[in-house]
Amino acid sequence: ARYREGQGWYDARLTTYGPLPMDPATAALHYAQSIFEGLKAYAQPDGSVAMFRPEANAARFARSARRLAMPVVPEESFLTAVDALVDADRDWVPTGPDQTLYLRPYMLASEPFLGVRPAHEYLFLIIASPAGAYFPRGVHPVSVYVSEEYARAAPGGTGDVKCAGNYAASLLPQQEASALGCDQVVYLDAVEKKYIEELGGMNLFFVLGSGEDAELVTPELSGSLLPGITRDSLMEVARGLGLRVTERRYSLDEWRQGVAEGTVTETFACGTAAVITPVGVVKARTGDFTVGDGTPGPLTMRLREALLDIQHGRVADTHGWLHRVG
Ligand code: PMP
Repeated sequence: ARYREGQGWYDARLTTYGPLPMDPATAALHYAQSIFEGLKAYAQPDGSVAMFRPEANAARFARSARRLAMPVVPEESFLTAVDALVDADRDWVPTGPDQTLYLRPYMLASEPFLGVRPAHEYLFLIIASPAGAYFPRGVHPVSVYVSEEYARAAPGGTGDVKCAGNYAASLLPQQEASALGCDQVVYLDAVEKKYIEELGGMNLFFVLGSGEDAELVTPELSGSLLPGITRDSLMEVARGLGLRVTERRYSLDEWRQGVAEGTVTETFACGTAAVITPVGVVKARTGDFTVGDGTPGPLTMRLREALLDIQHGRVADTHGWLHRVG
């Protein structure tokens, strides 16, 4: 759909995938006035299709739009649009183990001009693409590199919304991590360079203790980390299992010391793409360490299964998180 100031949204349509005509002065290309979301549609055992918490994506998209001085896509329109796209051909939703239809709603400033001001014209699009299982050969821990030179986001910045520029800034640290043989970057807070924020595209959880007494700790929403929908869902699932869940500041030192003393038994990252991925090797300027024994921890796997069971409709949706398509 298109938006023009004074006119509102218009020209909503479903089209085949193809290139967009674009003026060289298109505002989004120069000043990154561009936001996006990522969510999934899951084939259900009864043959229907369901999206996982699309209202939460609509709400976050609206927050991102406000932060970047863009028009808001009303929640109802956002839901109608993703629903219509998935409903256009149910065969797009793969039915193999752990397979999904990934949906990428995004909005960009499409007005051609070179001045720095909010654009008057926008384009809202959604791409649908089948996604295979994230771990086709079994879940295994990822290695991470703690970036102490670069921050992902600063207080007052755009780190708590999903805008294109955040990801541009994370490409160089990701390249450095890859050069060191690590899969992902751990970002620290930009002020004290001490507290853990998140990975480049996933939130983090730390398991303190084990068994019935285990406590889950996740960095509090500092204003410069993205409030993940998987993070929020997992906190609720974990509390439902009787686990203690704490949102607080959590430092790299506390993590390293906890692992050394055996009080931190597991660490995992979570996001729409991987759902949950265990974290193993940690590389940092101040010393490397390893969480666990190279295999996924029991609580990590239990929470992973619990959430996947809800998403794939294998257990009752007691939280009301599934949105039936059509
Ligand atoms: N942090 C960042 C920076 C991300 O890009 C993502 C992916 N959207 C997440 C966390 C996880 O969010 P969600 O669970 O909503 O996918």
